[in-house]
Amino acid sequence: MTGRGDVAIVGAGPIGLAVAWRCVQRGRRVTVLDPAPGSGASSVAAGMLSPVSESYFGERELTALLVDSAARWPAFAAELGEAAGVDVGYRAEGTLVVALTADDLAAVDRLRGYQAGLGLPIEPLVGSALREREPLLAPGVRGGAHAPTDHQVDPRRLVPALRRAAVAAGVTIRAGAVTDLSTVDSETVVVAAGCGTAALTGLPIRPVKGQVLRLAAPGGEPGFRHVIRGHADGSSVYLVPRRGGEVVVGATEEERADAQVTAGAVRDLLRAATDLVPDLAEYALVETGVGHRPGTPDNAPVIGPLPGRPGVIVAAGHHRHGIVLTPVTADLVVDLIEGGAAPSPFTPDRFAEAVRG
Ligand SMILES: Cc1cc2nc3c(=O)[nH]c(=O)nc-3n(C[C@H](O)[C@H](O)[C@H](O)COP(=O)(O)OP(=O)(O)OC[C@H]3O[C@@H](n4cnc5c(N)ncnc54)[C@H](O)[C@@H]3O)c2cc1C
Repeated sequence: MTGRGDVAIVGAGPIGLAVAWRCVQRGRRVTVLDPAPGSGASSVAAGMLSPVSESYFGERELTALLVDSAARWPAFAAELGEAAGVDVGYRAEGTLVVALTADDLAAVDRLRGYQAGLGLPIEPLVGSALREREPLLAPGVRGGAHAPTDHQVDPRRLVPALRRAAVAAGVTIRAGAVTDLSTVDSETVVVAAGCGTAALTGLPIRPVKGQVLRLAAPGGEPGFRHVIRGHADGSSVYLVPRRGGEVVVGATEEERADAQVTAGAVRDLLRAATDLVPDLAEYALVETGVGHRPGTPDNAPVIGPLPGRPGVIVAAGHHRHGIVLTPVTADLVVDLIEGGAAPSPFTPDRFAEAVRG
């Protein structure tokens, strides 16, 4: 039996669960539908909150959204931690961008110049200054940069915490896949199904495969504290240290939908990682994994009403940034449900042709 103001959310990843939590806080009756909550991209994601070091040429509007959402993270993590009674692993040590060779440094400097030109906080560092901050870095690293406001959270703590907070606040979570939106009986339907959104809406959201590794430090804690975004002889790799000893090493970006871990990807990631931090060779390789980022043609998320489908709102297509964009997406969707404006330039109508088929 549905009532006025009911909200059904398709997908219990970080986006769907955060929207559910915020909606129930506004007094809505909320149901979330998902056959396997938390099993999407977030189950392998690194959890970097990197609006600055992931600000790329030609993505100014996306960068502004990332900066906005990252600024919401400290309060969001504190509120969620309190509501769920768990620590979500928010860490604010910052990010070091590290270049191994002169060619790597030229590429890093070019992007840093663009990022600094936008007024973003990022400072160049020479190799010795990098090694002062993180002595485990290889002696040969040429230089790089420090992005002090690029932080991290642990998605494997975040998603269960969101689930707990949402349920404690009154959200119902039901196991079950939605195959047709017209079968969802609710005044408002929010589609937050990650890569599953395309089949439900016709929007051009495609899986972008990412292979990722998890290492365990022999001493119980990684020997470095910053997130490291490395460039090693033309290969990119990131290293995310967690309390308790885990180091996440990622990730490939492949236009594929399969879930195969390949020997070549593991080799390339480990080579780049150990070229930058030689001690990692002594860490245990404890997990290999694959996830699929919900990518869009312009790399930006799709947030807003689905054209031609009254009552249906989309919150998907977060590609590489779904963790950092969780707080702002939840707030935007809830504002929309409460009668606010859709967040241009991210609305689905930019892909209206695809939706009409
Ligand atoms: C290797 C890798 C590293 C990443 N690193 C980062 C990072 O460092 N920082 C960052 O911000 N982001 C990162 N991301 C991206 C981030 O994980 C995603 O953008 C984010 O998980 C998207 O959240 P979501 O809730 O939209 O989708 P998902 O997390 O994919 O969840 C979607 C949910 O929808 C459900 N679902 C799907 N279809 C249906 C259906 N038909 N009916 C009901 N339910 C359905 C699924 O079961 C799943 O639970 C990374 C991703 C990968 C793969």
